[in-house]
Amino acid sequence: MKNIVLFGPPGAGKGTQSEKIIEKYGFLHLSTGDLLRAEIANNTKLGLDAKTFMDAGKLVPDEVLIGMVANKIENNLEVAGFIFDGFPRTVVQAEALDVMLEQKHLKIAGMIALEVEETELTKRILERGKTSGRADDQNEELVKKRVEEYNTKTAPVANHYKAQSKFASINGIGEIDTIFTNICNVIDSY
Ligand code: AMP
Repeated sequence: MKNIVLFGPPGAGKGTQSEKIIEKYGFLHLSTGDLLRAEIANNTKLGLDAKTFMDAGKLVPDEVLIGMVANKIENNLEVAGFIFDGFPRTVVQAEALDVMLEQKHLKIAGMIALEVEETELTKRILERGKTSGRADDQNEELVKKRVEEYNTKTAPVANHYKAQSKFASINGIGEIDTIFTNICNVIDSY
């Protein structure tokens, strides 16, 4: 099983690139943002609790995320690989993911980081907000808060994978297909 963490700030293009990776490699997309939005749509207790954080542009508590991801892995052990999108978002989540995978004799092949600078991110997210229907994509203050959460809590996760020599960085600005080719080159090297 080839498991990849697609990393980057909100608006870096993780969702777009995930779709292309899935189409080519047949991996399972594990987007924690999508999982949380599905919980909200289904009016579950977890969804209602998570919504408060999401509406404020804040990260949802680690325990919630770790439990959700553990379930998803447990129920899909036959897949060719997982593409983790939006997870892990804290060092605690990254450490928990290592333990979860180790227990199944699995591991992360590598983290691929999409590098995009901040002004471009805000522009992209507000543009996406016109069609995504996501309230957190439509308010500039909320977008700024999400980027701030990324800078303080999520950016350090890269060091976790650098320390394991499992980190690759790719320019996330340019043609979608060029970025995808660069990602594929990294995936094929695993
Ligand atoms: P995303 O779709 O990845 O942009 O996630 C949307 C929102 O869901 C984030 O702003 C967080 O509030 C929450 N979220 C998604 N993934 C995580 C995670 N791994 N840890 C904490 N919160 C998360």
